[in-house]
Amino acid sequence: MHDNQKKLQERIISAAQASLEEKQYVSPIDILLRLGWLAPTHLDEWRKGKIRCLEQVLNANLKKISFAMECFRAWAKEKALKPSITEYIARTRERRNLQFSVSGHPTIEQHYRTHYISPVLSENKQKKLQEKLNKSPDLIVYRIVSDSQCNACKKELHKGSLLFMQAEEPLCIACAGLDDGFEYLPAGDSTLTRRVKKASTTCAVVVEFSRSRKRYERQGLLVEKEALQKVQQELSIDDTMRDF
Ligand SMILES: [Zn+2]
Repeated sequence: MHDNQKKLQERIISAAQASLEEKQYVSPIDILLRLGWLAPTHLDEWRKGKIRCLEQVLNANLKKISFAMECFRAWAKEKALKPSITEYIARTRERRNLQFSVSGHPTIEQHYRTHYISPVLSENKQKKLQEKLNKSPDLIVYRIVSDSQCNACKKELHKGSLLFMQAEEPLCIACAGLDDGFEYLPAGDSTLTRRVKKASTTCAVVVEFSRSRKRYERQGLLVEKEALQKVQQELSIDDTMRDF
């Protein structure tokens, strides 16, 4: 091994160890971020489906990246960490799988999607962590505070309308496919919200920009009508049972 490679190997191992200590698991993305090869803004854009593959925006050449990933896997094996393949799904309406590598080769993709979990965690905690990592990200729908227009059907969207951002494109919820079969559930009833969220395959968080607080605030959820009805029914049965 060259001196340069040795130095890089040391950096990778210390990045991996730091992530593992912090979160009890470590992923290739953690390493790329810690090495400074991946900018958090690029990661965010990739997750939103704006970038074709992650390697395209990494600040290192493919040879170096593949060497780094090899070192990382060897380290994880040596530490007897538990590999866990995680899904990476784009935060877009079609929920496609995100691509990491330029080539898209299945083995390389699988390497990137493999997280390594600390064997120190109990079986139950490992399972919970795996479930959490595999959960698809929520879609975000904006309740707009100024007028806009749908890029697909050109409908005018007035203040207070719902808007979905598909990559850079503003879409009305009909064009985003979040209209038919969906219902708006305002925040407030936490039990209902939690259960519907679990029952609804697709679900979007509705946020609105607060000018005074200068941040987006959660207003409620767009959930599948069927899931909402099912949960409401279950909850009313629970209530009836309680009366007896
Ligand atoms: Zn539209």
